[in-house]
Amino acid sequence: MPRARSASDPPDRILRVYAFDPSRGARLENHLTIRIPYEKLAKGPVGKKVVVIDYDATNRCYYEGVNLDATAVLGQNGLAPSESDPQFHQQMVYAVVMDTIRRFELALGRPVRWRPDHSPATDSPFHSMLKVYPHAMQEANAFYDPSQHALLFGYFQASEVEAGVNLPGQLVFTCLSHDIIVHESTHAILDGIRGHFNDPTGPDAPAFHEGFADIVALLQHFSFKDSLLDTIQRTGGLIHRKQLAPTVAAAKTGPMIQAEIGEDNPIVDLARQFGEAMGNRKALRSALGTAPDPRLLERTFEPHERGAILVAAVFDAFFTVYVNRTRDLIRMAYPDGRDIVPNFLHADLANRLADEAAKTAYRIQSICLRALDYCPPVDITFGDYLRALVTSDRDAASEDGVGYRAALINAFRARGIRPAGVLSYNEDALSWDPYQGASATASNPDFSKLWKDLNAYEDEPDRENEQQLYERLWGKADTFRIELGLSLTFPVQAKSINPLHRVQPDGSLRRQIVAELLQKQDEVPLVSEDPGAGTFVFRGGTTLIINRQGEVRFSISKPIDGPAGEERRQQQRDYLSRMAASFALAPYVAFNPERDLSFRGIHRGY
Ligand SMILES: [Zn+2]
Repeated sequence: MPRARSASDPPDRILRVYAFDPSRGARLENHLTIRIPYEKLAKGPVGKKVVVIDYDATNRCYYEGVNLDATAVLGQNGLAPSESDPQFHQQMVYAVVMDTIRRFELALGRPVRWRPDHSPATDSPFHSMLKVYPHAMQEANAFYDPSQHALLFGYFQASEVEAGVNLPGQLVFTCLSHDIIVHESTHAILDGIRGHFNDPTGPDAPAFHEGFADIVALLQHFSFKDSLLDTIQRTGGLIHRKQLAPTVAAAKTGPMIQAEIGEDNPIVDLARQFGEAMGNRKALRSALGTAPDPRLLERTFEPHERGAILVAAVFDAFFTVYVNRTRDLIRMAYPDGRDIVPNFLHADLANRLADEAAKTAYRIQSICLRALDYCPPVDITFGDYLRALVTSDRDAASEDGVGYRAALINAFRARGIRPAGVLSYNEDALSWDPYQGASATASNPDFSKLWKDLNAYEDEPDRENEQQLYERLWGKADTFRIELGLSLTFPVQAKSINPLHRVQPDGSLRRQIVAELLQKQDEVPLVSEDPGAGTFVFRGGTTLIINRQGEVRFSISKPIDGPAGEERRQQQRDYLSRMAASFALAPYVAFNPERDLSFRGIHRGY
């Protein structure tokens, strides 16, 4: 097991990875070094949170784990990118998973935690860690498996007929695609933050998981300045263009050489190698490549396709802010209003544009990650997410200086994403309603005592008292159930309590607490009157945002009973019935949502 950090350890570890995937070759912008916090590693690598286990279940063999702490490896920023070296594959998955974790931790201001590990192997040294299998199976798939606490990456032979940029029959490794690694890590991290977002509660829930994972993966790309420079040159700074200009203009007789042929912008072409070899992933390309259609949401239900609408909205906002931020630079470079000529940007200008794009991407990614704390604990919808984005960002910065919120709101509106019960798209209407309950004030002795304990807990590095605090939180919530939007019929369970730290624009630190309270009703019949048709678990609850004075600022609730609860129950029933019908199960097999709608099935094709 790795030992604790010592004073002589370097602050960071720098590792080489592919910026995209091997199919783009060894071009400069395809090789990237990423900087992650240093931790002592055993062979594998085995760290504190993540363990890479290179077992190939199809061929039943182990590949020896890489030693990233070996002096020769440490001294040259890790192994050089190579398709044929399994140890480089191990290095790449470790580096990219850790980089993704670091971004969540910086944005949320607290350590990432995995979902509770209920596997029987509690004595395993890797219990509760995220297991990463870079060569898990010979299959064109990669997925996050919550029950195994694992990311499983497959490898496969590219198609003999339609291999795209791959050689026909060539081995394609999903563990070498930067985007796929970030996408799968995001599933695992999101599952640790909001453990019920993967429940089949409606069409938006699985689509949110998919869309959110793609958003994080794409924004991660844009935040690497070096891999942007080439795209900036070839799009003349207009990085949202779908097609890159050819490097040189083609002669009249048509393109003869590579440099004369334009190609798809790789940055909006997520996981190109995987997609091309599989012939899928068209949804995202078309969502990013067509004009927004406010009616598309009403007729799109496949999770990746529906998720692509969310991705397109966030990207619209990203490009809009980028264009606004760089307008002055472009004007200075082209004062006579001439059209920009791709491939002939001044190097200084390209550099500045890349800077702006990377900063904007980083900022939008933080906004998207932070909004998770302002989401309800269950039954996430795209509309809820928009409300969370607006409320969370207003909490961090009351002024919308460069127009991030305005851009997000307009982009969501253009795609028909409308939060339930909200009448206007202005910021006030979109923000969650402030909590009005009278009991949650500091003057209530029960509450102020609990808040004091919660605040003390916030500073506590180990989480020994967590269970005790959970119990106290839900005990208190019992008294105020109706105000918090909770049911009197079903027991309350505290799911999480976390510190919520935000650096304010003036540099001061605002400290709050975010907690999830849950309620559930077991064995709700899928078809009323017919228990034989299968049952489902119906969940409700609330996310509380509590300030340092012990006041509940927001109770973001999804009621389990009352008229709102009944409406939600019926919506979920309708959704599950549609899913059951689409599975066309044999009549004697009862539809089991938890089994039939797992990540492996639904998230096939990652
Ligand atoms: Zn996925």
